[in-house]
Amino acid sequence: MRRKIVVGNWKMNGSLAANAALLDAIVAGFGAAAGERADAAVCVPAPYLAQCQQALAGTPLAWGGQDVSPHAGGAYTGEVAAAMLADLACSYVIVGHSERRAYHAESSELVAKKAAAALAVGLTPIVCVGETLAEREAHQTYAVVGAQLGAVLDHLERDSVSRIVVAYEPVWAIGTGKTATPAMAQEVHARLRAQLAERGGENVQILYGGSMKPDNAAELMAEADIDGGLIGGAALKATDFLAILAAAR
Ligand code: PEP
Repeated sequence: MRRKIVVGNWKMNGSLAANAALLDAIVAGFGAAAGERADAAVCVPAPYLAQCQQALAGTPLAWGGQDVSPHAGGAYTGEVAAAMLADLACSYVIVGHSERRAYHAESSELVAKKAAAALAVGLTPIVCVGETLAEREAHQTYAVVGAQLGAVLDHLERDSVSRIVVAYEPVWAIGTGKTATPAMAQEVHARLRAQLAERGGENVQILYGGSMKPDNAAELMAEADIDGGLIGGAALKATDFLAILAAAR
């Protein structure tokens, strides 16, 4: 039985004061929402990772980054190395989010290198895959997400595959209020699971992301291959994040 995990993607939101209030409220409500049943993490803007380390060390809430350099270190102005995230006791880092693929022209090959850089220092990369609306309407969903995941799997040693997390995030559902139905999401997750299983990754957690909210989280996470959620907008409100966490069982 795979454990459920709910991960907040704060994107480029937050301030020291707002984060302190949000983190305090999530930690205070964690036990009642999840108990020992599920895991949770927040992936925050890099400048706030030290704040997370200070506020969350010793709590059940883990933290992580939203991107990482494929390089180990050196003359790469503006980039953040995986070792730096590890230094701040991050557990996770998101790689290949559709906003980075779209606005920063990240290729699946680059995403693969980022995933490997994260694994090399013991971080868990949350590898995002997802199709656009045009690709779905052209019946390209499996071809697109399969190629995105395949690029990462091809780049990793077989024994590393079980150490990643995958997030299926249909681009048309992110921040739009449109959610894949549980059946639509499950169908893609099952395909991703089969692809992972070919490389020894049958137990990899596969999260759904895209307008997951308190009112649709339980039915999505009740599907056999949906192991949790990657949450954008609803992760910025403690009551919503906790309600989603409570639905993860
Ligand atoms: C995301 O950006 O990863 C995401 C799922 O966003 P939202 O929940 O706001 O659709």
